[in-house]
Amino acid sequence: MTAPVRTHPSPAVAGRSSAELIRAEEPVLAHNYHPLPVVVARAEGAWVQDVEGRRYLDLLAGYSALNFGHRHPALTEAAHRQLDRLTLTSRAFHNDRLAEFAESLAELTGQEMVLPMNTGAEAVESAVKVARKWAYEVKGVPADRATIVVADGNFHGRTTTIVSFSTDPEARAGFGPFTPGFRVVPYNDLAALEAAVDGTTAAVLIEPVQGEAGVIIPDDGYLAGVRELTRRAGCLFVADEIQSGLGRTGRTLAVEHEGVVPDLVLLGKALGGGIVPVSAVVGRRDVLGVLRPGEHGSTFGGNPLAAAVGSAVVELLATGEFQRRAAELGVVLRDGLTELVGRGVVGFRARGLWAGVDIDPAFGTGRAIGELLLAEGVLVKDTHGSTIRIAPPLTITEDELRSALGALAKVLDRRA
Ligand SMILES: *Cc1c(COP(=O)(O)O)cnc(C)c1O
Repeated sequence: MTAPVRTHPSPAVAGRSSAELIRAEEPVLAHNYHPLPVVVARAEGAWVQDVEGRRYLDLLAGYSALNFGHRHPALTEAAHRQLDRLTLTSRAFHNDRLAEFAESLAELTGQEMVLPMNTGAEAVESAVKVARKWAYEVKGVPADRATIVVADGNFHGRTTTIVSFSTDPEARAGFGPFTPGFRVVPYNDLAALEAAVDGTTAAVLIEPVQGEAGVIIPDDGYLAGVRELTRRAGCLFVADEIQSGLGRTGRTLAVEHEGVVPDLVLLGKALGGGIVPVSAVVGRRDVLGVLRPGEHGSTFGGNPLAAAVGSAVVELLATGEFQRRAAELGVVLRDGLTELVGRGVVGFRARGLWAGVDIDPAFGTGRAIGELLLAEGVLVKDTHGSTIRIAPPLTITEDELRSALGALAKVLDRRA
């Protein structure tokens, strides 16, 4: 699982080099990303290999879509088995994999009902629709008056409705007009949340840890406070666990750190095992139950291949092994980063095997540190200028994690 990738001649070497492939993208591929200059051709466990056969430790793990590492054998086996039997039916018919997926995911998350979708943004969109419908049909909010309260610094995806309540100018500029019905309050501020909630509020939608914002962890008591406040106000608590969930923080869900059960939980990323996009809204039956046939759907949502991979993901998580690893390796990560504070690291936030590390701007931007780490065989992604995010596969070994932290120390020492 975490065995090194064997170096072997890659077919692409005979074809085009990394540099040639990067140049080939430029005229033909939309420029909505600015990737680090590495062209990955193979991967296994926590390791990826570029077209020239150079190996790198992956400390991004597909923004936590690869919590179980690249090509976890149990997941690729489930996918291969399903590929040979049935891949797509659409929801016009039942398929023989969906019941098991929904049952096991509901059990894993302590919820009652599952709405399967594909991407994270679709899960968020679905929750927005469900919360509004619930507000009109159950809570009695006047037609078209429902509001949803969100936090600033949020990241919930890229659709027009979702960027309507983003506070990131880059995510919004040029994409209006925006969808109304959202109120933005400061994150980690219960008083502001309380002031924003009223009789029109369908839901409070927040990330239990804000990933894209730089792994922002709210104060102890915030999530429990949101739960208490929403219960009192008679609105839904929707937790976007698309990045924080499924083992990353040392628990199955990040809300478990405060013993909180939201009304709806949004899952994605790791739910697809790094193989196919799989997302879901899981929640209370009386909330998801507002949807009736024809009112919402997805051609690919709940397809048998996705359900087979999703079920295998749930099976891995049901053992508790990955949550335990995240918690244990999280201590190693925290200790390693603590040693770097004052040596190029200004500060960091960490929960489980997940950290946002603020680099002293005098040592370089997050991007510059990312490029130096790339040369040391370590892949990280910067976020917001001088912050880098560390989120390796939960299968990484302690030695591999220590060597990655050593590479960060080396890069920072050279810049001092
Ligand atoms: C990645 C992410 C999304 C969007 O998921 P996509 O699959 O990219 O659409 C939504 N919410 C959070 C918290 C995320 O990290």
